[in-house]
Amino acid sequence: MSSVTLVQNVLTRLEGVRRNGSGWMARCPAHDDGRASLSLGEGGDGRVLLKCFAGCETPAIVAALGLEMSDLFPPREAEAAAPRARIVTTYDYLDENRKLLFQVVRYAPKDFRQRRPDGNGDWTWKLDGVRRVLYRLPEVLKSVAEECTIYITEGERD
Ligand SMILES: [Zn+2]
Repeated sequence: MSSVTLVQNVLTRLEGVRRNGSGWMARCPAHDDGRASLSLGEGGDGRVLLKCFAGCETPAIVAALGLEMSDLFPPREAEAAAPRARIVTTYDYLDENRKLLFQVVRYAPKDFRQRRPDGNGDWTWKLDGVRRVLYRLPEVLKSVAEECTIYITEGERD
């Protein structure tokens, strides 16, 4: 993320800038603007919102500023470069017949999601109606049969 936002970059090129609510007003560079007719705002994704109340088109305003339309929008590269969660490991939850009921998926950066087979070779990321079982149920049942002590821990890894 650069320290100068897109809207700041535009503001430094304008004259007569003043705050107006959550945005700014300034003299429009695309026409002979005696009063500040240009409204500026910042979109939720950081894009610059421009509107000249005298009716100048945005490309004309951008050209008068010595900028290009792409200078108003956050770069696509920034989006692509954003760190993406990747799957680190999965934990299978099986029923007593070792049939997969659902999976806990562990991501990096650390995050967990749950999914179940949708029956068509893909996953459904909801566990509505899925039977919740203990992790390693088949082993737990075997241990119970063998009268072993079972420790229930917080996380699958433990
Ligand atoms: Zn204008």
